[in-house]
Amino acid sequence: MISALLDGNRRFVAETFEKEREFFSSLSKGQQPTVLWISCSDSRAPVNSITSTRPGEVFVHRNVGNVVATNDWNLAAVLEFSISHLKIPDIVICGHYGCGGIEALDDDESEYKYVPIWLMNAFKARERVDEKIRALHIEMTKEQRMRLIVEENVRLQLEHLREFPFVKRATKEKKLNVHGWVYDMSTGEIKAVKNA
Ligand SMILES: [Zn+2]
Repeated sequence: MISALLDGNRRFVAETFEKEREFFSSLSKGQQPTVLWISCSDSRAPVNSITSTRPGEVFVHRNVGNVVATNDWNLAAVLEFSISHLKIPDIVICGHYGCGGIEALDDDESEYKYVPIWLMNAFKARERVDEKIRALHIEMTKEQRMRLIVEENVRLQLEHLREFPFVKRATKEKKLNVHGWVYDMSTGEIKAVKNA
């Protein structure tokens, strides 16, 4: 129920905000986050909980399938602000296993209008994994294949990220590092995606 959120906020004010007035008052004067976090909108992967970070530490952009689309003005503005203004030194793209967005890449007859259009930005990840499976003649379960596509999608979105001119420039000047990670909901662990 939606009122639970406002009840929760009242508890936050009474139990957390009041006790840490100084901390929150310093935050109200400005932010100096040290990482830009690009992840899926999935409710089960909330960045502050899974990384034990506090308000003020992580600048966040989330969408279906943790996609970086080079024609996405929303993300472009987030990137420009993070890099040029906040001078954030690290960007993480964090995918997650069990991602509904990635599973929807297999849905060739989707009833939805916008999700398939959005996911065209991730389709190459599915193609690359399927090509690899075919070439290597390996048997794998549906879940194993999905996990590979989730990981490949992180690599693919990092490639898209590196295409933004200010990302390219900042990484060349060694002012910015980009990282590809994946979150496992079944263990709570985050791991780096190999060769990402
Ligand atoms: Zn997801």
